[in-house]
Amino acid sequence: MTDIKSMSMDELKSICIELGEKPFRGKQLYEWIHKKLVPDYDSMTNLPAGFREKLKEKEPLVCLEPIEIQRSAIDGTRKYLFRLSDGNVIESVWMQYHHGNSVCISSQVGCRMGCRFCASTIGGLVRSLSASEMLDQIYRIEADTKERVSNVVVMGTGEPLDNYENLLRFIRILSSPEGLNVSQRNITVSTCGIVPNIYRLAEEQLQITLALSLHAPNDEKRKELMPIAYRYSMDEILDACRNYFAKTGRRITFEYSLVGGKNDSEEDARELSQKIQDINCHVNLIPVNPIKERSYVKSGKKVIENFKNKLEKYGINVTIRREMGADIDGACGQLRKSFIDRTNGQ
Ligand code: SAH
Repeated sequence: MTDIKSMSMDELKSICIELGEKPFRGKQLYEWIHKKLVPDYDSMTNLPAGFREKLKEKEPLVCLEPIEIQRSAIDGTRKYLFRLSDGNVIESVWMQYHHGNSVCISSQVGCRMGCRFCASTIGGLVRSLSASEMLDQIYRIEADTKERVSNVVVMGTGEPLDNYENLLRFIRILSSPEGLNVSQRNITVSTCGIVPNIYRLAEEQLQITLALSLHAPNDEKRKELMPIAYRYSMDEILDACRNYFAKTGRRITFEYSLVGGKNDSEEDARELSQKIQDINCHVNLIPVNPIKERSYVKSGKKVIENFKNKLEKYGINVTIRREMGADIDGACGQLRKSFIDRTNGQ
């Protein structure tokens, strides 16, 4: 069994030939799946009926089932809980900004990176998502909102660079002109810092933005928040980022979740600035979103402002992430987690 929604155009053409059809059917099939976003073969009206029957029998079409949609009354943000064909659930978020609509997708069911403040990692990793399961989060959301998605961030549950091959397939299909044609410049991949795969990504000739979850000014503090810090040092990570910029010309985003009393002092800001000041980068400060399983708290408003000012004083570009959908299960992995808790995983 192949997963037809994860296939490139060339692979689809080969499948068509195997099924006794002309290669141009591959292009038609690709457009139905990735541009017109139809959920089933019956909707593909320009394909011969016999061919559609063969496809139905041989090539099941991955389609996620929305089982819960939460809508924020404050800013229109929507959180989706989707069921996968094996019964696992994942979540995605749709956000409206002035510059367009953005979707935040999951790359794995659960996560094995173990960041201390993150709800997605509490049950560990169940499995990685296929390219089709990543794509279909966006496709089902476009179908539901009836609006174009212009930005995609791979910042939901999971570590995308721990699912490298499928991530690459996903990016290539999502940005293909015969598909949704989302500009690679509007695709952001966020990683906790799997160094060898950052080097690999730099060689892929992509124009995507790399977001690096730093969250600390030194290895010692980073280890307290992120187990991955035992594996790769900050120096190694920052070198990988320098290389990424050198190879792609894409400015790096550093994500820094401010955790009250842990990584938010002026000294932390100073140390961070020194480490990254030679890198063409931008720092996105995220006030930590407390989860009930851990005792971490948000930094105060003033502390956040001070941290930002300090970084700016050292010449670093900084933004504070705007909180979206504060009235719905906001933080990473919380909707899935609360669903599993409510239903006891059934
Ligand atoms: N595995 C990827 C994607 C994770 S989610 C990564 O590590 O980058 C995207 C961002 O949200 C990461 O920077 C992550 O560390 C951060 N994050 C996760 N849970 C959070 C929380 N409760 N509060 C604030 N930031 C959080």
